Amino acid sequence: MGIKVLKFGGSSLADSGQFKKVRDIILADPDRRFIVASAPGKRSSGDIKVTDMLYKCYDLAASGNDPGPALKGIRERFAEIIEELSIPFDIDTEIEMLKMQLKETPEKEFTASRGEYLNSRVLAAYLGLEFVDAADLIFFKSDGRLDSEKTYSTVKKRLKGMDGAVIPGFYGSMPDGSIHTFSRGGSDVSGSIIACGVDASLYENWTDVSGMLSADPRIVENPAGIDVITYRELRELSYMGASVLHEDAVFPVKWAGISINIRNTNAPGDNGTMIVPRLPHGDKGNVITGIAGKKGFAEVTVTKSLMNGEVGFGARLLTIFADEGVPFEHCPTGIDTMSVVVNEEKFNPAEERILSRIRDELKPDEIEIERGFAMVAVVGQRMASTVGTACRVTGALKDSGINIRMIDQGSSELNIILGIEEEDYEKTIRAIYKEFLS
Ligand code: ASP
Repeated sequence: MGIKVLKFGGSSLADSGQFKKVRDIILADPDRRFIVASAPGKRSSGDIKVTDMLYKCYDLAASGNDPGPALKGIRERFAEIIEELSIPFDIDTEIEMLKMQLKETPEKEFTASRGEYLNSRVLAAYLGLEFVDAADLIFFKSDGRLDSEKTYSTVKKRLKGMDGAVIPGFYGSMPDGSIHTFSRGGSDVSGSIIACGVDASLYENWTDVSGMLSADPRIVENPAGIDVITYRELRELSYMGASVLHEDAVFPVKWAGISINIRNTNAPGDNGTMIVPRLPHGDKGNVITGIAGKKGFAEVTVTKSLMNGEVGFGARLLTIFADEGVPFEHCPTGIDTMSVVVNEEKFNPAEERILSRIRDELKPDEIEIERGFAMVAVVGQRMASTVGTACRVTGALKDSGINIRMIDQGSSELNIILGIEEEDYEKTIRAIYKEFLS
């Protein structure tokens, strides 16, 4: 027994058929009490999300054009759900009010938030649950950061003792009472905040996939799903491009020690992926949890004789990159060489300034730049207690004829990062997948 907070994404609430699935999911478990809803998303690949339609309405109104026809499209989306499920809800009055508001004082974030607001009211009416507006629960400071203290104490007070409620995702209110939204996909963050506020036993994030995959399905055919992943592993994989949740959704629940379960509204029988603070006791999972990577890196190698005797050389080199606003990804060193691996997109505009500063300030013998690198992260918390993982990784690459340009095992032994030529990227991921996961 415990309280579960469920967030349903836009595709899970895109039409009346999806609403029915959501109701069945909620009714299947009495612990599923607090529901955070997104705006209706795409019903098929060519469809438009209600949030995008709302942004369009705002753009039209803000540029002095009539948002009426665009609003009509939004009305139709809700009217269809309401009619097909016979939900007692007056959508016309709501759309009329939004139209007036857009005419008088168009506000971008308020307009965008109406998808979640209306959808949650419709869902609450359908489920027979109370609607609690996110504007009365989630508060931001004037600089746009979450006012955690006020938010959590309000969520606790307001939701404590309730049997359940539907709460819109994506927005909250500013100190002046205006609406402020998170960045796109932000209902994940709202769900996480509500889960913390009610001290949930679990945060279920319902979407349209059965959890995370252990590799990119565009590279590995039918990759295995991830059953359990720790927050630390998730961070590594997400940083390397494997995304399943809004980045900011992780932090509130992670600090509170609450697990997230990624589930599929269209396949509720699947267990999905469990994101947990730490591996369960006696765990016997795979040594590798997942593989992810990115292309588009460059390596700047600075050579200077007797560099190792020059105290502060590394700090000065990295300071030049930092001053120019270019973060470094990795920094392999030799006795007389130091390389800085950077994202090419960030490095290119600052290249000239960085090189001339290195020449002036560090007086190197040589600076060499190599482009077209890819990075692949092999992630698994269990590798810290497993002998021979690096050997298996390098062996797999050797067998596939792939040259490793850089290799870095994080000091926490949570990952092995490989630097390879971009053209070897897909081949590398397939080789490691085959060795550990297939
Ligand atoms: N509806 C918003 C978006 O499309 C927020 C969300 O769905 O999480 O980005």
